[in-house]
Amino acid sequence: MQQQKAYKYRFYPSDEQKHLLAQTFGCCRYVYNWALRQRTDAYYQRGERLSYEGTAGRLVTLKKQEKTIWLNEVSSVVLQQALRHLEKAFRNFFEGRADYPTFKKKRNQQAATYASNAFTWKGHHLTLAKMDAPLEITWHRPLPDGCQPRSVTVTKDEADRYFVSLLVEEDIKPLEVTPKMVGLDLGLKSMVITSDGRTHGNPKFFHKEEKKLAKAQRQHARAKKGSKNRNKARLKVARIHKKVADRRRDYQHQLSTRIIRENQVVCVESLHVKHMVKNHCLAKSISDVGWSEFVRQLEYKAAWYGRTLVKIDKWYPSSKRCFDCGHILDSLTLDVRHWVCPECGVAHDRDSNAAKNIWPRDSRLLPVERP
Ligand SMILES: [Zn+2]
Repeated sequence: MQQQKAYKYRFYPSDEQKHLLAQTFGCCRYVYNWALRQRTDAYYQRGERLSYEGTAGRLVTLKKQEKTIWLNEVSSVVLQQALRHLEKAFRNFFEGRADYPTFKKKRNQQAATYASNAFTWKGHHLTLAKMDAPLEITWHRPLPDGCQPRSVTVTKDEADRYFVSLLVEEDIKPLEVTPKMVGLDLGLKSMVITSDGRTHGNPKFFHKEEKKLAKAQRQHARAKKGSKNRNKARLKVARIHKKVADRRRDYQHQLSTRIIRENQVVCVESLHVKHMVKNHCLAKSISDVGWSEFVRQLEYKAAWYGRTLVKIDKWYPSSKRCFDCGHILDSLTLDVRHWVCPECGVAHDRDSNAAKNIWPRDSRLLPVERP
């Protein structure tokens, strides 16, 4: 089955390329924010839903205006892609997966997407529209042989690092069917608890890096606003943050790949992480473990390899339900790690009890074919 897969690499732009990229990021941001305002105004002022096509039509007019003539200095394809990104953000909002789109800011990560007609690809030489020379990319892992990227996204993160992500179509073979299934629960002390009682990873990256980060943040706060030192200090804070994020992501990828390889059916709880994060002191450890990113990885890897991911409703009382007798507690606050069932007297560890409850009882979820 043909699947889309993204390969991300770091690259080092020349000064000239940096300049053009800065311009491109700026134009993308401008167009995205402009279209967001257009769509919001259309809705609130006239009750209209402005579509992608609607904004694309208006962009043509915008580029002809004196005031915004500089938009023509960058690839027009990239600007259209910015409108597509906004369209996607709106779709996520309308379908309840995300908050209302917000304006892009200069200090956050910058991105620009090049569709296939806006770059050339000759055997690992990637040249973007309006550039003379290919990007200097560090190929730290191989691309599939003879692939032709469908699109290319260039990003510059808060720590001023440049990355290129190539989207390629790849023939991914489903894995052999296995009779194994597993239920996963989000743990606070460890990232994932499986229904067989195993805990996986508590990469408390933040705790290890916390001191470093606190020091860098103090330096940042002390530096004079607008000074060179302030900017240097800001970069240092961003770099530590990014290092933590990279390590977390690597770990999540290893674990999600392993779980998908080993099991035919994987059950997870679809948590409302957003609500939990607002809930004060537990917020840090929850965002630290990055459950929603982990579930996202499981989801697409399941699709690649012919596995089934079952999401169990977030209101299912997996934590509050006694696995042994089925009794459901009235309440169980997040700080209670151990409890004893008032019905049957069995002592539970909060997380492993929840993981066992997530295990599907429905036999229809079992793999049909058996090896
Ligand atoms: Zn019980």
